[in-house]
Formats: sequence, structure tokens, C-alpha cells
Amino acid sequence: MSSTLDFEITRNERPASAAERERVLADPGFGRHFTDHMVTIRYSADRGWHDARLEPYGPIPMDPASQVFHYAQELFEGLKAYKQPDGSVVTFRPYMNAARMNRSAHRMAMPEIPEQLFVDAIELLVRTDKDWVPDTEGHSLYLRPFMFATTRALGVNSPADEFLFAVIASPSGLYYPRGIKPVSVWLSQNYTRAAQGGTGEAKFGGNYAASFAGQAEAVEQGCDQVVWLDAVEHRWVEEVGSMNLMFVYGSGAQARILTPALTGTLLAGVTRDSMLKLAPDLGIPAEEGKISIEEWQSGCASGEITEVFGCGTAAIISPVGRVKGADREWTIGDGEPGEVSMRLRGELVGIQYGTRPDPYGWVHRIV
Ligand SMILES: *Cc1c(COP(=O)(O)O)cnc(C)c1O
Repeated sequence: MSSTLDFEITRNERPASAAERERVLADPGFGRHFTDHMVTIRYSADRGWHDARLEPYGPIPMDPASQVFHYAQELFEGLKAYKQPDGSVVTFRPYMNAARMNRSAHRMAMPEIPEQLFVDAIELLVRTDKDWVPDTEGHSLYLRPFMFATTRALGVNSPADEFLFAVIASPSGLYYPRGIKPVSVWLSQNYTRAAQGGTGEAKFGGNYAASFAGQAEAVEQGCDQVVWLDAVEHRWVEEVGSMNLMFVYGSGAQARILTPALTGTLLAGVTRDSMLKLAPDLGIPAEEGKISIEEWQSGCASGEITEVFGCGTAAIISPVGRVKGADREWTIGDGEPGEVSMRLRGELVGIQYGTRPDPYGWVHRIV
């Protein structure tokens, strides 16, 4: 299917020079630099999606009474574009992001966007700013679609009926520039990320706003990231920071993985889903289940749990090396990333960067 809307194209007349772009791409970091263009598409209850534009990256004029400023009605997505060995550029499973954005929209009482329009917007931006897709191994162009309520009204009883969808792009360097090192994590008992019936499975910025205090507490405790536990018993493990968690049991030919099931309070990661499909094909059985902090600790003590890692688009995998809670502390493995974690990472990265075959049809070529 071709574009569901015609985009009005306004080229940036003052794009970054090749020299400036090269300087940024030499050390992009994460989320600090943006490309020359962005996409915006408006929605209103009476017109539906309309006014699709590709325009120069820049400020969006907003009315101070826009509902997003007051009631936080917004959501976002995150995916990457990867340079291939033949110079072409692909994204990874973009229709999964589109579908997830629509599930988030449903929860946030926001309009769904046609999946094809979501993908068209990404393709147009990547094609236009393709010189910003890094060549360097392990680097990528991070894509950030998002949507928010622009209705000018403070009344909470009149739901927003105007929205803006936008996509911006940011060159992204290695998540671990000094090599992958396991992180330490803090078991948060004081803060909860999500509860049943809440917004935990929506990619909603408010979940992040609500998590910063827990993350700050983790840092005060000398840890890198916070582990989110269930809201009722504070013992069932859900996520780490903004990543899904994977537990490796056993090793070698006996290795298997377990990840917390999607109970309604977890975010359904594309990386998580990809690991669950990849692992069994590599001879590593994978299941979704439930694991408590007691089981995590005793599993590490007995040697049954051999590796634990977080997974998400930004880091791909982030091994966990040490766990600390108010009344307990333990280590996982030997302080180095585990074999199973690194093998799964290598397979996924290989598919994304086109150095391994993609039997799943996950890679979506753009240009
Ligand atoms: C985005 C996100 C993830 C990871 O999802 P991916 O699609 O794999 O990037 C996990 N947890 C939370 C809370 C997230 O916001």
C-alpha cells in the first residue's frame, strides 16, 4: 500500500553542512543531536488525520492551554534505522511499533494512526535524512515517533479532540562505548512503576516521569538502574529501568530463558519479543512466566540462574551483575557479560545490521 496521505514537503534551507554532520556522527552519544527534518501530522475529530508534512526540524508553536501540558496526554515510540553492508538502510519490525503505538493510544484515549501512515512517516524522514544514518559499527539512527493532545482547553471533562503526531530522528552511538559491562540494580520497594489497570503497558511519557524518583533512589543506593516490582506484593519482578528482563537458567546445551509474562503492567518490548523467537531457534528454550525476588536470589545462590539481562531497542542487551535491596544483596555470574546474553545479542545485532540472514522477515528496507 502506498502513502495514506500526501505529505507536503518543505526542505530545510539551512541543513547541517557535511562537516558539521561528520563532527556529530563522530561522537553522537544518545538523543543529543537531531537531523535536518521532522514529520508532523495533525488530527482532529472532524477531519481525522490531515496536514501531513515533512519540514525542517525545529520548535513546534504550542498554545499554553494545550491539554498535553496540563494532563500529560501523550505517548511515544522508539526504533532505529541501521546501515547495511551494501549501503542500504533498514528499520527493524516497524509495524510492531505502529501496532504498539495504537495500543498505547487506545489506553490514553487518543486516536489510532493507520499503521501504514506511521511507517510512511518514518520512511519519508529516513529517506530525506539518510546521510544522518551512521556508518560506524554499532551506531544507528534512532527514530522517535510521538503524539500529544493539542486541544486548547483546561476542562478535563471534555476529552481532547486535536492531536499532533510527529517523528524526529537522532543519530545514536554505542550504548556501551567502553565495552559491555554488567550493571547493578536496586530493588525499589518505595516506588511502583505500574499497577493493574494503570498505564504500564502503554509507552506513555508519564510512566517515565513517575519512574525518575525510583531511578534517583537507585543511584543514591550506588546502583545503576532500578528494578520494578509488582505493585501489590512488591516481590514479583517486572522490568529494569526502561527495559524488559530476561533470566538465563543453566548453561551450554542446558541453557533456557525466562522472562516475566505480560500481565498488563509491563511494556511489550519488540526486543523482548524478538529474543523469545530467536532463542528457541538457537536451541535455547524460552518461556514467559513469573519470578519473585526470593527466587531470583536463591536461583543465583544455587547456581541455577547463570545470567540476567535487560533488553530494549537502545541498549539491545544490558547484563545485570549485582542486585541490591533494602535487606539483601547478591551477585550474578562473575562480573562479565554471560555467554547466552552475548550470543543472543550477536544474533539480533547481526540481523539488524545485515551481517546475518533474516529468516523472520524482520528487516524493513527503506532506501
Ligand atoms: C520501550 C520500553 C521497553 C523496550 O521496548 P523495545 O521495543 O524492546 O525497545 C521496555 N520497557 C519499557 C518501560 C519501555 O518503555
